[in-house]
Amino acid sequence: MDRANIVIIGGGVVGCAVARAVSRRWSDVFLVEQTPRLGMGASTRNSGVIHSGIYYPPGTLKARHCVAGNRLMYEFCVAHHVPHRNCGKLVVAHDARQIAELERLAENGRANGVTGLRIVDRAAVHAREPHIDAAAALEVPSTGIISAEDLIKTLARLSTDQGASVLTRTRVVRLEPGADSIAVTFAEGEAAEGAERGEETIEARCVINCAGLYADEIAALLGNRDHRIYPVRGQYCELARSKSHLINNLVYPLPHADGLSLGVHLTRTLWDTVLVGPTADYVAAKNDYERNRLPVEEFVRRAKSMLPEIEAADLQLAYSGIRAKLVPPGHAGIADFVIERDANVPRAIQLIGIESPGLTSSLAIAEQVFSLAAEILM
Ligand SMILES: Cc1cc2nc3c(=O)[nH]c(=O)nc-3n(C[C@H](O)[C@H](O)[C@H](O)COP(=O)(O)OP(=O)(O)OC[C@H]3O[C@@H](n4cnc5c(N)ncnc54)[C@H](O)[C@@H]3O)c2cc1C
Repeated sequence: MDRANIVIIGGGVVGCAVARAVSRRWSDVFLVEQTPRLGMGASTRNSGVIHSGIYYPPGTLKARHCVAGNRLMYEFCVAHHVPHRNCGKLVVAHDARQIAELERLAENGRANGVTGLRIVDRAAVHAREPHIDAAAALEVPSTGIISAEDLIKTLARLSTDQGASVLTRTRVVRLEPGADSIAVTFAEGEAAEGAERGEETIEARCVINCAGLYADEIAALLGNRDHRIYPVRGQYCELARSKSHLINNLVYPLPHADGLSLGVHLTRTLWDTVLVGPTADYVAAKNDYERNRLPVEEFVRRAKSMLPEIEAADLQLAYSGIRAKLVPPGHAGIADFVIERDANVPRAIQLIGIESPGLTSSLAIAEQVFSLAAEILM
């Protein structure tokens, strides 16, 4: 049977960042992805925003990894020529109550170590975003945008240059812990393909679960049923090219009070398109990207208070993505990332509930995972 030091399950941005970090130090690293290409899950179905870290409760992994990840991401993008733009963003308020909420958000951000935050008035908003209606806004200079696809390709290339093996169309179907390794059994292709498949097993000294929406199911293969992922779909619309001048950078409303999402925002992408979204609704299936799409009028309703000129005729439906939420429907609050060695199978590292800001945090998460892997492989 083949042997590996590390098997990473899941080739999204987190798995790729982890592969790059651990393959610097260890040989025989395998990154295993069930789909034909890397990054086809949440990692390329998102807003592509490099978040600042203002939203998350101080001291949480989300807050720490987002703030550290933001800095690491800009350094990485510059060093490896990954397309990005440090454009900053505005979180807008319409009345005195909302301005007080902006103040609270700014305080939270400062407590997390986010710098450069300031509340600006209507005239300053108008100077930056002439078509946006707001009484005031929180200016967040460290926010930016990135090409997630290029980031993933670069991380994968660096990993393979360092000797890691990347296997696509390869699905982990069984994990069997032994005395000094875990037997990882793969099958070719995705579950949905359903065809007869050959299976292969590798004995791994360390297994890292970066399976995104399916991370709870991978944990369950090792008997860990502590966490359940509830899929929450976010849908996007795109503004017609003729209207993309309406938005210069990134404009956000205040986040949902229940912690479900950051609210439908306006994102000018690196390709000079403008995205409106994402929405946030629990769905039954983890692959339900397209059923019952919202009408464009719903996006107009949510964005109109920020962008009064927006009309349904200016919008067309775009892609959707699915968040790996740990908070069940009907409950409020922000669940933290789970990143830890499995309590019963300490050779396994579990990463569960890596929803937003997972893209921003990916390089910082990879550093934490590197330290956990070092404990196992020392
Ligand atoms: C709508 C939306 C907007 C977002 N916006 C932002 C944003 O602007 N900024 C930000 O920082 N974050 C954002 N996020 C969060 C970010 O996209 C995720 O946190 C991040 O992509 C998670 O990466 P991942 O590698 O953990 O998951 P994924 O990208 O989902 O990768 C997991 C991979 O594991 C594979 N896999 C699963 N099971 C198996 C198996 N058994 N065998 C082999 N492979 C398997 C899957 O096929 C998948 O490719 C957003 C998310 C959504 C949904």
